[in-house]
This record gives sequence, C-alpha cells and structure tokens, in this order.
Amino acid sequence: MCCVLACTFIDVFMLVEQVFEDISGKFFVENPYAPQKDPRTEVVRFVRNTDQDHILGIYSSSKVGVEPEIMKTNSGLLRKINENDFTLEDLHGEVLQFPTPCPNCGIECQTNMKLTNVPHFKEVVIMATNCDACGHRSNEVKSGCGIEEKGRRIEVKVRSREDFSRDVLKSETCSLEVPELDLSVGPYAVGGRFTTVEGLLVAMKEQVTSQGAVFIDSADDETKNRISKFVAELDAVLEGNREITLVLDDPAGNSYVQSFTHPAPDSGITITDYERTYAHNEELGLNAMNVDNYEKNDN
Ligand SMILES: [Zn+2]
Repeated sequence: MCCVLACTFIDVFMLVEQVFEDISGKFFVENPYAPQKDPRTEVVRFVRNTDQDHILGIYSSSKVGVEPEIMKTNSGLLRKINENDFTLEDLHGEVLQFPTPCPNCGIECQTNMKLTNVPHFKEVVIMATNCDACGHRSNEVKSGCGIEEKGRRIEVKVRSREDFSRDVLKSETCSLEVPELDLSVGPYAVGGRFTTVEGLLVAMKEQVTSQGAVFIDSADDETKNRISKFVAELDAVLEGNREITLVLDDPAGNSYVQSFTHPAPDSGITITDYERTYAHNEELGLNAMNVDNYEKNDN
C-alpha cells in the first residue's frame, strides 16, 4: 500500500493500543465488526500542515512561485477560476463544464458544475462527472457557504415509498447511521451527494458490499455472514418491507432532508442542532484556524 511510506507507527502501550498516523489519509484497518461500527478503533481526520503537504509533493502555486501549467490552460485538472470570470448569475444560469481525469479509468472526461439553490436550505455547488469511456458516473456536492455555527443531526423515519422520495443533501462531512440495523457509515465512505433517501440507502448498501468484497479472501466466515445478513436486511428496507430510521449527523451543519410539510413541522423528521466538540472542530480543521481565541471547554 502506497501510504505506508507516509505512515508513522507508535506502539503506545505494548500490545494495548496502536496509533497510526497517515498524512495521505489512505491508511486502512480492517473492521472485524463490519458493517457495524468497530468499537475498538477510532479514526480521527485532521487537516495537513504545510510541511506534511510538502512531504506528499503537494505545493500551492504561491509557494512554487509559478502558476502550474495546468492552471494556464483549459485542459487537465480543474481550471483556475479568476475573480470576476463568472458572476453569480452566470453560475445560477448555466452549467459550467471542465475536463477532469475520470476517477475510475483516468481518461479525460467532462465534469459539469452548477450552483443550485436547495429550497428552504441554501446554495450548494453540484459537480457531476460522466465518463464516456468507462461509463463511470459520480456526483459531488460542496456547500456553497462554509461551515455552519452548529452541527446538525437529522433523523428521518423511513416507513413508506413516500419517505424514499425525500430529497437529501448529504455533505462530505456527514456520517450516516441506521440504528435498527446497527449500521454506521463514516462521512468519507459515502461522499457528498445530492440525492434522495432511497439513493442514500442504495449508496450505503454499495459501500458495505464493496467493503465486503475487499476482504473476500481475508475475512472470516463470521464477518462474511454479517455482511450478507446486513445486505439482506437493507434489501428488505429498499423493498419497503422494513421500517427504519436514517440518521444524518453533520458536524458542519451542511446537510439537509426535504420536509413534506414546510414550514410546519414534518412528523417524519427530527432535527437537532448541537454544539460541536473539540474532536469535531479538529476534524473540520477549525481549531488550527482559531488558535488565538480558542477555549478548550469540552473534549
Ligand atoms: Zn472512465
């Protein structure tokens, strides 16, 4: 695995606890309890500092002193958008297209980007990539306006086909849970998406199925059985034969589930806004930005 180079290994208490820090973010430890949360492993994401970026060969154009060739032309990766290149009206009015390498096969394909106003919520940037060569499709959602004051937890009762059709905006910092199935999916496993409740359940199923596929050789029978049992349970949910609660927990407060009764409260949705913990802020990279006035008042 390529990340091992960038990985430091600290044996904290002999055979009691091991801490792995991987600045490339690719390090992976098998979860023997999959698809349930691993009670004996804790994953903390952090924002790389400049030195760590340099170890990985990531330099900002200001550090290098020259504009990378890629930014001067329209080909290659994301084209740099200069201030005043597009007005807000432009973004609302049209879909911007730029070429990107396909995340699946690497052949250049088109990414469409559009600023969209989610009703009763806020503006988001939706980026959709369709690859003609291999058929790969993906959509990524980025919040158009930073991190909210508070974290937000949304519980959605999924009882009928009607509940499947709710629009969902799951930001890239939002984790998912289905308490009835003892299932939790971390924020990065299923990235930012603008979809429906059904689309999210399908994505969770795909995530767990692919997780199972990774360990098809190494996983013990118990893990394999647990994964296939989970897939069967989720199929029952998708067929409308089982009621569940879908929990979206977004410390950045940028996730949203469509209400059927807006502005009156919707009995199918419970929204709780909460103060972020120190660990949440660490993960969002907020502590490093607020070193001057930060008060450590929680853990
Ligand atoms: Zn492709």
